[in-house]
Amino acid sequence: MPFPPDGPSLTAPTSLPLRGVTVLAVEDSRFASDALRLILTRAGARLRRTETLSAAQVHLACYRPDLVIADLGLPDGRGEDLIAAASARGIPVLAVSGHPEGREAAMDAGAVAFFDKPFPSVAGFLRLVEQLLTGRGPEAEPPLVEVSGGDPIALRDDLTRAAALVEEAADPVYVAGFVRGLARSIGDRALEEAAVAAAGEGGRQQLSAVLAERLTGLQPV
Ligand code: CA
Repeated sequence: MPFPPDGPSLTAPTSLPLRGVTVLAVEDSRFASDALRLILTRAGARLRRTETLSAAQVHLACYRPDLVIADLGLPDGRGEDLIAAASARGIPVLAVSGHPEGREAAMDAGAVAFFDKPFPSVAGFLRLVEQLLTGRGPEAEPPLVEVSGGDPIALRDDLTRAAALVEEAADPVYVAGFVRGLARSIGDRALEEAAVAAAGEGGRQQLSAVLAERLTGLQPV
């Protein structure tokens, strides 16, 4: 399901370094996507979001974003293909991944920069985006945005989706990547290890059990 378009927040601060900039974010994790929404819309960007490679291609056929932010592991393909398609049209692409080892393939595909999720420094991320768009550093210090903790509803969505994917025995490489990225974002080492082990014999049941445990442990929202 596509995310609704986001406009600048009503409570946006007066400093809007990304005012007038359209960003297309292609990210299948709602938890990560929500962090991006918070950071970019508060800086004044117009943000469009999609969760799949095919939907991103429809977006690119309809309009020209100033910047594409592409996650590498997508449910229907690889972000590298999107990076190649967008860069061929001269659109800069910032690749993001929960796995630092994805950097080389992303840069080879034509990404102008790579960012390792989770976003450790909001100010640093905004500085990078501004730099990519203007070719120089920011004019003013970007607004301070607090994203620590993340959105519990988006986290629940991601965990629920991961549990369903494990249940239906979806592509194990994609599922392991999705869960591993999410686990790193929330600093959950046990979940990360279970995701890595899920590729092996018997690992799927173990991952299923850990995901069920995490979902049970979430506070009702
Ligand atoms: Ca992903």
